[in-house]
Amino acid sequence: MKLYNLKDHNEQVSFAQAVRKGLGSQQGLYFPLELPEFELTEIDRLLKLDFVTRSAQILGAYLGDEFSEETLKKRIGAAFTFPAPVAKVEPDIYSLELFHGPTLAFKDFGGRFMAQMLQEVAGGEPVTILTATSGDTGAAVAHAFYGLENVRVVILYPRGKISPLQEKLFCTLGGNIQTIAIEGDFDACQALVKQAFDDEELKTAIGLNSANSINISRLLAQVCYYFEAVAQLPQEARNQLVVSVPSGNFGDLTAGLLAKSLGLPVKRFIAATNANDTVPRFLASGAWQPHATVATLSNAMDVSQPNNWPRVEELFRRKIWQLKDLASGAVSDTVTKDTVREMAMLGYISEPHAAIAYRLLRDTLQPGEFGLFLGTAHPAKFKEVVEEILQREISLPAELAERADMPLLSHTMQPDFAQLRTFLTQKA
Ligand SMILES: *Cc1c(COP(=O)(O)O)cnc(C)c1O
Repeated sequence: MKLYNLKDHNEQVSFAQAVRKGLGSQQGLYFPLELPEFELTEIDRLLKLDFVTRSAQILGAYLGDEFSEETLKKRIGAAFTFPAPVAKVEPDIYSLELFHGPTLAFKDFGGRFMAQMLQEVAGGEPVTILTATSGDTGAAVAHAFYGLENVRVVILYPRGKISPLQEKLFCTLGGNIQTIAIEGDFDACQALVKQAFDDEELKTAIGLNSANSINISRLLAQVCYYFEAVAQLPQEARNQLVVSVPSGNFGDLTAGLLAKSLGLPVKRFIAATNANDTVPRFLASGAWQPHATVATLSNAMDVSQPNNWPRVEELFRRKIWQLKDLASGAVSDTVTKDTVREMAMLGYISEPHAAIAYRLLRDTLQPGEFGLFLGTAHPAKFKEVVEEILQREISLPAELAERADMPLLSHTMQPDFAQLRTFLTQKA
């Protein structure tokens, strides 16, 4: 698979190089040179396969020139050790539950596949994973790489701006996992990561690698669960499907659009955001005007400068799709709370991120259409918020309950690159 740098189309790399490097020069994102497409009969055949077998074949369409189907199946099998079930919420609205992995959020899929592929291509050389998280990526990355040989993981997160349970989940591991609470917001963390990647000397010295949503391997893994959703939906939903994606950095939406470009039948996507609504405002007005990031109940979506957006635009350009066909909307915290309550009355306990996607779907679905929203996190992952909204207790799954009593092992740091650099060059 060849990929090019969106900032410099002459810079082309293989998938193996893209996985290792994360970002290209000038912090450019990598984007596939070829956009494979399955015939309709192929799609039908794929939809009948089991999740892992199908996913290996989907990835084979991109990666077949670099890895055998057997290797891909082995790696996918080691990454996707849990299901992605579809649950019915209303007669014509379904939830794709992506939270049955070890850290109870969709980022387990991308994080674990990336860890597998990095191990596949690293050839035993030492690697430092540096990533910024607004909540869930950190946990997924930490758990995906925990205990892997020759890999050091350093995770930055905004101090006090992620849920206490989220923090417990990835800041209590120790070993090859180091966590730093930055005195700033997520964008400040992301800026530090970008600075590190601009520092060529540092990059080579520690084998710097990114594992957040900008790594192409994560996106390819995420493409697979859109197929898994359609495979489970009633046949009549297939050509009338509207998919609503709760969005922060827009990795999940990019993956969904890639699934569509492979030929998966999706009538329309909805880009759903909270008050950090740079994209919905852009789609309405044509002007890209990020505001300062604001804290919301759906904190994993508190991103005002979504880093995958250039990929979305590139895909639309390449496929000659119209951005006006991308639906979008922003949902306030007040409406989010109401929606979590309404979903509970329908018998479905959800959490703020998925509720935002459900809300926009419900409000815009046309007769005859079927709706699917991504259930990006388990409600227990946002226990405090959900309990407060619903005025009832949410029990913790065993994975979280075990970690809740363990001590935090995080360092704290000002958003100062010099300090971070020193930390990174010291021995782990
Ligand atoms: C990361 C995250 C999102 C946003 O996903 P992006 O790919 O960054 O758009 C939504 N919901 C939850 C629970 C998340 O953790």
